[in-house]
Formats: sequence, C-alpha cells, structure tokens
Amino acid sequence: MIKKVIILMGLPGSGKGTQGAILSKDLSLPHISTGDIFRKMVQEDSSESKMLASYMNEGKLIPSELVNKVVRKYIASDECKNGCILDGYPRTLEQAEYFIEKIDADISTIFFNLSNDEAIKRILGRISCVACGRIYNEYFDKPLKSGVCDECGSNELLARLDDDQDTIIARLDEYRKETLPMIEYYKKKGKFYIVNAGQSKQKVVAEVASIVKKI
Ligand code: AMP
Repeated sequence: MIKKVIILMGLPGSGKGTQGAILSKDLSLPHISTGDIFRKMVQEDSSESKMLASYMNEGKLIPSELVNKVVRKYIASDECKNGCILDGYPRTLEQAEYFIEKIDADISTIFFNLSNDEAIKRILGRISCVACGRIYNEYFDKPLKSGVCDECGSNELLARLDDDQDTIIARLDEYRKETLPMIEYYKKKGKFYIVNAGQSKQKVVAEVASIVKKI
C-alpha cells in the first residue's frame, strides 16, 4: 500500500505544529516535526549536536543533506508504515526534489497562509509543554491553569530557545529565501490546499478537517 503523506507548510508560527498534533490524532498517523526532531538531537551529547545548535540558534536552515537523511530514516520506520503528517519538511527546493524522487508516497500539501506580522506576534507569545509538546500562546491560547499543561499536568511550560526576536527575523528571512520558491514548485505538483491560518484555532481545525476529507 502506498503511504499517505500530508505535508504542512507555512511560516514559522502559522500553526503547523498545533494543527499537526490534532490531525495526527484524528487520522492516527504520526506527526513528524523536523524542528522537534532537531531540538531533541541538540539535547543529546553527539558529534552533531553542537553543529545543529549553531544553525538553529541563529535561525539558519540545517544543511539539506543531513535533513534528508534524517527524514528518510523516519519515513522508512515502522511507525510511518501507513504514512505520516510532515511538519517543517521539505523546506527548500533541494529537499522537495529529493523527497519526490526518493520517497514513494501519495503526497498532499496543506499551506497555512499567514501574514509576517501575525507570525511574529504568535511566535513571541509561544510556549510549549516540555513533557508532551502541547503548544500554547501567552496572549490568546493560555492553559486553563497558569503554568500547568492542560494535556498532561506538567508544570514545565517554556518558550523555545529559537523563539527570540533576532532568531525570528533570521528564520523569516530564510523562509522567504529558501521556502517560498519551494512552495511554488509544490503548487504545480497538485493536491495543494490553502488554509487561512489567521483565523481562530477552531476555525482552522474545521478548515483542515474539510480538506482532509477530500484527500
Ligand atoms: P521549526 O520548529 O520547524 O521552526 O524548526 C526549527 C529549526 O530547525 C529551523 O529554524 C531550522 O534550523 C531547523 N529545521 C527544521 N526543519 C528543517 C528543514 N526541513 N531544513 C532545514 N532546517 C530545518
């Protein structure tokens, strides 16, 4: 059976992580976030961790050769035997071409459309649960009890290290330079759906759900 892969694209802060986690539960497919994978790899004491941290802390993209290798391993794993929700990959034309060439999958893409200003506001307010990864926003999507995760009860809710103002500007620059041209490439491949990510979380959930019914 050919794997079903749903690629989530959009600016940092456009809601890919939040929506990816919801979709993953609804479709029973694993949510593979390359940003989360690399943040974990940075915590490990390996020969690669320092190099990865230096790219991520500067808001730069990690070289595609390494990213492709890591993603290919995940997609080939048993966890992804029926497919997956891919969040944060592909992010460059080089990655997009590699993915289409080397990975046999039925690909659909959902693009989360959001303005630059709104993305910056969202990223600056973002906090996430260290234990389960649930994402909140200090301004408009707070946990019910301050400092405690609604999902798992952990009291470790932290901002990501790469969510500071300087890094955000660099990440948005990288997005314009590297990711936007790749999005044009994907649009031409078909099965490309656009969501208005500037709406409330519930409205975005509903829009995504209606797209997923078609794919
Ligand atoms: P994210 O959480 O998706 O915003 O990713 C955080 C950081 O991880 C990015 O700023 C990059 O440094 C790195 N990263 C994640 N995915 C990729 C990718 N597909 N290609 C290159 N770097 C990536």
